[in-house]
Amino acid sequence: MRKTGLRLTFWGVRGSVATPDAGNLGFGGNTPCVEVNRGEDFTLILDAGSGIRLLGNRIMRESGGRAGVIHVLLTHFHWDHIQGLPFFAPIYHAGTTVNFYSTEPVERLRAVLAGQMATPYFPVRLPDIQNFYHYVPCEGLTIDGVRVTPIPLHHSDKVSGYRLDAPEGSIVYGSDHEHGVAEYDDGLIRASRDTDILIYDSHYTPEEYPQRVGWGHSTWLEATRVATASRAKRLILFHHAPERDDEQMKHVVAQAKRHFKEVAAAREGWTISLSARRGA
Ligand SMILES: [Zn+2]
Ligand SMILES: [Zn+2]
Repeated sequence: MRKTGLRLTFWGVRGSVATPDAGNLGFGGNTPCVEVNRGEDFTLILDAGSGIRLLGNRIMRESGGRAGVIHVLLTHFHWDHIQGLPFFAPIYHAGTTVNFYSTEPVERLRAVLAGQMATPYFPVRLPDIQNFYHYVPCEGLTIDGVRVTPIPLHHSDKVSGYRLDAPEGSIVYGSDHEHGVAEYDDGLIRASRDTDILIYDSHYTPEEYPQRVGWGHSTWLEATRVATASRAKRLILFHHAPERDDEQMKHVVAQAKRHFKEVAAAREGWTISLSARRGA
């Protein structure tokens, strides 16, 4: 495999619903999708929100229609995390294998994804031939040299975040998590220990949150607390609320910086590179 280092790219950063509002487009309006790329033979995708459409188009363009093997890790089945899948071109191309993973039983994973591509929701069925389904056990698994460990999160439905450990570094994807239950909060902090990148559900502001307790999301302030407690090197705010426009997003980041210096908000099209550690 040709190694180019690890590149993390945000294709969808918005929570709950796509927001192609003019005032949101600086940070982006697509629902969650994050690409982890380690060279021409390794593409792993976290969630299949509407952002996955453009990623799929790029993959097909660059591969000439033969993209090889693609891995898609799903956190849960809320619509904003799977709704881009019917528009993800690689699932229709025979030259591509798409492996789907979740912490749900394989049959449920297959049924849910096929279920949104059936009448009366969608005109084209999910092809069987080149799409495969996998269960992620609680101890995790390894995909082409990247260790994938699930992290149970607290949400309105069962959710697993993931920690990815690659030779180039580590990434924690902690989207769709509501703070406040010690078992989950402590587990997320433990799983995020010393990670290079922590992506965290920052849907609400601390001022909004008291009116939204039980809705399944957290705040930028909690994000900074988890980053501090876990000694994460870099914090990325994620799952931006649909109503949060670009000006408000800048204000959120400025406030968060007072609590955790290495913080930024996820922005569509933004790529972060991690290079292999010496000796790794
Ligand atoms: Zn969500
Ligand atoms: Zn959700």
